[in-house]
Amino acid sequence: MIFFSTSKSSAPVSMKRATLEGLAPDGGLYVPSEVPRFSPEELSLLQNGTFNNIAFAIAKKFAGAEVPLDTLSKLINECYDFDTPLVEIGDGTFVEELFHGPTLAFKDYGARFLGRMTGYFAAEDNRMITVLVATSGDTGSAVAYGFDGIPNTRVVLLYPSGKVSRLQEQQLTTAGGNVFALEVQGDFDDCQRLVKQAFVDPDLKKSLTLTSANSINISRLIPQSFYYAWASLQLARRFPGSLPAFSVPSGNYGNLTAGVLARMMGFPIGHFVAASNANDSVTRYLDNGRFEPKPTVKTMTTAMDVGNPSNFSRLLHFYGHDFRKMGTEITGISVTDDETAATIRSVYEACGYVMDPHTAVGYHALEAYRKANEGAGYPGVVLSTAHPVKFDEAILTAINREVPIPEEMTEIMARPKKATLVGNGYAELSKFLRNLDR
Ligand SMILES: *Cc1c(COP(=O)(O)O)cnc(C)c1O
Repeated sequence: MIFFSTSKSSAPVSMKRATLEGLAPDGGLYVPSEVPRFSPEELSLLQNGTFNNIAFAIAKKFAGAEVPLDTLSKLINECYDFDTPLVEIGDGTFVEELFHGPTLAFKDYGARFLGRMTGYFAAEDNRMITVLVATSGDTGSAVAYGFDGIPNTRVVLLYPSGKVSRLQEQQLTTAGGNVFALEVQGDFDDCQRLVKQAFVDPDLKKSLTLTSANSINISRLIPQSFYYAWASLQLARRFPGSLPAFSVPSGNYGNLTAGVLARMMGFPIGHFVAASNANDSVTRYLDNGRFEPKPTVKTMTTAMDVGNPSNFSRLLHFYGHDFRKMGTEITGISVTDDETAATIRSVYEACGYVMDPHTAVGYHALEAYRKANEGAGYPGVVLSTAHPVKFDEAILTAINREVPIPEEMTEIMARPKKATLVGNGYAELSKFLRNLDR
């Protein structure tokens, strides 16, 4: 598959180049030159497939010319060795639980595929790729466990000391020997500044191949279409003739973009609800066609606090910059913190299901969409982007219940923390990076 940049001024590239580069040289985001389509025959063959069968069929369309199929199949099986349950919590209302991976959030789907694809492509050239990330928590942990033990890769992640939760810190500091955690005596902005400085340091470029693994990488986007495809095929069996709506708790809109990709590939999906918190630049765009990003507002759904979403240019590309066309397939709904907390409570009271705040934003938006459009949104799927234990304080406040740490995490919780404490000046980071190969 060939990819080109949304800014259209750099040369088209292979999947390998797009994966190893992340961002196109012209500053745009890579998009597939043409979205592959599944024929009705192919879809019916996949109807009874497993998650990994479906993931492989999609991955093959994008990477099949560059990665041997047995390798690709093995890689998929390593990535997705955990379940993706579709839980019915009410009549025609489903929660797709995307939090059974090692770091209990949906970012595992993208980060694990990216880690293995990067490792595969780097090994072809006998190179070592160094992934450098600044994190306030969730992305860093998914990347740490996505690249954990992958040959030809290593990860250096910077996190602000004392400003991540205990669970997050445990996930950031316990992965294998190729993952280095730097605990920065400063805040998240210091971490970001240090990482930016490293990326433009000419001395470092001579000795290291640095890459960023952020959510704009095409190899993080493609695998996020797998769980849309998987859920849509299951629902097509149960609800023949009606296409499901997916409600997607959104921040950088990578998750939603992957859903749009799945729909374009031909998977049976009806509508999307773009659920946001007070950071509503996409919701406003869908209302009036003007994209006016604002400074980020702090809310209780911190992973969605994004004022200027990075994947928006891909959405624009897929809809030909036409907000009315986008609006026929995507409804934007913005949810307040009070509504989010009330939703956690009402869902728990109605059916005993405990959802994390991000998932609750998605649930509330789906309900609002149904209320405004009679008969629409059945069946409806809310993507659950995080396990409630990751936001246990909000849960405790909303329903006065402790969330036990799930079995998936007990092993990670018992591991010893490995982190190097550093100051917030660049000299220390640069020395650390230069010494990696010594
Ligand atoms: C990252 C994240 C989101 C937002 O996903 P985008 O792809 O950036 O829109 C939502 N919920 C949780 C829990 C996340 O970690």
